[in-house]
Order: sequence, then C-alpha cells, then structure tokens
Amino acid sequence: SIVVTGATGQLGRLVVEELLARGVAPGDVVAGGRALERIADLGERGVRTVRIDYDEPATLDAAFLAGDTVLLVSGSRPGARVAQHQTVVDAAVRAGVGRIAYTSILGADDTPLPLAPDHQATERMIRDSGLPATLLRNGWYTENYVPQLQQARETGVVAASVGDGRVASATRADYAAAIAGALATDGHEGAVYELSGDTAWTFDELAAAIGELLGREVTYQRRSPEEHRAALVAAGLDEGTAGFVVALEGGIRAGALGTTSGDLAELAGRPSTPLVEGLRPFV
Ligand code: NDP
Repeated sequence: SIVVTGATGQLGRLVVEELLARGVAPGDVVAGGRALERIADLGERGVRTVRIDYDEPATLDAAFLAGDTVLLVSGSRPGARVAQHQTVVDAAVRAGVGRIAYTSILGADDTPLPLAPDHQATERMIRDSGLPATLLRNGWYTENYVPQLQQARETGVVAASVGDGRVASATRADYAAAIAGALATDGHEGAVYELSGDTAWTFDELAAAIGELLGREVTYQRRSPEEHRAALVAAGLDEGTAGFVVALEGGIRAGALGTTSGDLAELAGRPSTPLVEGLRPFV
C-alpha cells in the first residue's frame, strides 16, 4: 500500500486525491492523521483511514506494513517535529517498509531559511535508517501569499523585506501532483527532488498579480528588515513571530526560494499553476 501521513491536512489530502486520479486503487491507499473526521469522505471512497499520531509509536506500528511506500508529511509543530519524525522513521524500519518519502525543504543542503535545521535533521535520520528513500524538497506554496492578497485589498500595498528576491512558488495541488507521481511510479529510490514552480517571480510581479485579481492598483513596498520587523510588531505580531518572518524573508532575499529545477513539472506531468491562477480562488 501507499501510506500518506498528514492526510487530514491540506497537502496530504491532495496527495491522496492525486493518487486516486492517477488510477491507484483506493484499497491500495492508506490515509493517516489524527483528525480522522476530516477524511471520512476518503474512507467512503474506499481509502483505508487510520489514526496516526507522530507522538504515539503504536499508531504507526498499526499503520505500516512490510513493503509499504510511506509518505511522511513534515509535522507542523517546530521544536517537536524532529523527535516526531524520528518516531515515524523508527516505526518504518520496524515494519520493514519498502520506501519512505519525505516532504523536506527546497535546497535543504545549504538553504539559509530558519526552517532548515529540522528538515536537515530529518533527511539525516532517513539516510541513517538505511530505508530506500525519496526526498521531496518543497519550495513555497503560492497559498502562503493569500494574507498579502487580503491585506492589499485594504491597503493597495504588498510590504516585505525581500528586496529583489524571487519565489518559485507552486500551489499545494501542484506539489501534491508531483509527490503522487513520485509515490505511484518506480525509479525514485535514492532520488532527491527540488520541487518548485516553473516561474520565479519578484514581489513587483506578486503585487501586479494581486492588482490584476483585485482590479486595483497594488504596489510592492520595499522595507528594510528592521523597518519590516518594527511594522509587524506595530501591527500586533509578537517579537518572536516578527523576527521569524523577517528571517524567512532574508532567505528569500538571498535567493533561497527562487530555484526552478523543473522537477515538480516533470513529476507532475504538467506545468505548475501560474501565480495569478494560484491566487484566483482566494479573491
Ligand atoms: P496542514 O497544517 O494542513 O497539515 C499538517 C498535517 O500534519 C495534518 O494532517 C496533521 O494532522 C499532521 N500532523 C501534525 N502533527 C501531527 C502529529 N503529531 N501526528 C500526526 N499527524 C500530525 O499543513 P499542509 O498540509 O499545508 O503542509 C504540510 C506540511 O508542510 C506542514 O506540516 C509543514 O511541515 C509544511 N509547510 C510547508 C509550507 C510551504 O510553503 N512549503 C507552508 C506551511 C507548512 P492532524 O491535523 O490530523 O493532527
């Protein structure tokens, strides 16, 4: 079977949908997560739904069988997730799964993004496990910019400290299509994919795309990191979160999310969704 963890979340659900769309039999797909009520509809379509809690090894032992292909969707709680991922990898080894795939971060080897250490640690533990593995290093979701769209509706401004940094974003559905491709077909053992959108856009282009969608003038307001941090705090963010946002944007300024390898489109078998189309559902 193909076991999808995090199937109760946004990306994991889409991976399950893409597997079914590719013709994988529902009975060969196992969808796992904690909030199983969110995937009851998948169960009704013949997918086996199982409770998986990264903090409860017994749930993983019950979910994994020898020979399975397991997708580990990275956990959503920074600080806790390295230990959680180790629990998942250990269970995968105990079960003797056939392959493990992991949603890492774009350019994990040397990215300056503050999220990187968790992903680097997880990639290491997967290598150390000796399991056949596929690393799916994800860039940014286009959906991350929905808050900017909402804000620009009020202000006509997209403010950021990314300078001329580019983001090769793709929609969650694009990532899911690529990930499903890597899960459902052979030949991906030992592979490392750098998944991102086909086009690396600037924030001037982001402002223009949002302006087109809203039918109003929207401009990119360039802030220095310090100006941006102060503005975020003034807008109500706590210091820690504001610092984190500015650090992420520093990574974008340095080019960490602008890589376009073409891996996503190749695995998905189609181009990535253009920025303006990716944001259109949120207007
Ligand atoms: P969601 O928050 O929608 O989904 C997260 C999934 O992880 C849920 O299914 C959740 O299960 C599951 N999960 C979290 N903690 C545990 C746990 N302890 N045990 C079992 N399952 C757990 O995120 P997305 O689907 O949008 O993104 C997937 C991952 O990608 C995120 O978790 C995060 O690591 C990363 N991410 C990437 C971004 C990008 O731009 N590339 C942006 C944001 C996040 P349940 O709800 O049932 O508890």
